Amino acid sequence: MLEITTHSADETRILGRTLGRLLATGDLLALEGDLGSGKTTLVQGIAAGWGSPDRVTSPTFVLINVYRRPEGRLYHMDAYRLGGPAEAADLDLDACLESGPLVVEWAERIRDALPDHFLQVRLAWQEADHRLLQLVPHGGHYRLLLDRFEETWRSIQPAGSRRPR
Ligand code: ADP
Ligand code: MG
Repeated sequence: MLEITTHSADETRILGRTLGRLLATGDLLALEGDLGSGKTTLVQGIAAGWGSPDRVTSPTFVLINVYRRPEGRLYHMDAYRLGGPAEAADLDLDACLESGPLVVEWAERIRDALPDHFLQVRLAWQEADHRLLQLVPHGGHYRLLLDRFEETWRSIQPAGSRRPR
């Protein structure tokens, strides 16, 4: 697990951008955390880093937003209004994953409908503008992805803020 505290919404977007650059078709990110913890803010960075100029909004009512870049799509889903995994099964997440990365907000609500392997990102309010992000890889592919993310993230931190591993 990798734990990072961000100190502003912009820092969370930068984190998202760093992560978004690494995403490929078939990658699944499961975002967990209460209202206001920063999930949608993180996705704004993810979509930009992945390469889409599209505006990122909360898909609470439409369930899934699609962001485009010249080749490919990024899927952004919000499971908040779903009754549970059974309803999620109707959405055919597998079809999404065949044509792009998929990022799910409130993933904890549909855990049973998700594939076994994914990168879990738990977000929690800390104080005012501070948010704790815990990134937990499930499966070897996501361990490698997280390693690559961590390497880049550390390289863009100001020297004074680096902590020993
Ligand atoms: P969620 O999708 O989890 O409900 P949002 O991203 O919509 O959360 O909202 C998070 C709110 O908290 C935004 O208003 C954002 O500007 C604010 N915020 C303040 N500090 C942070 C931070 N460090 N990371 C993310 N959002 C932050
Ligand atoms: Mg949201």
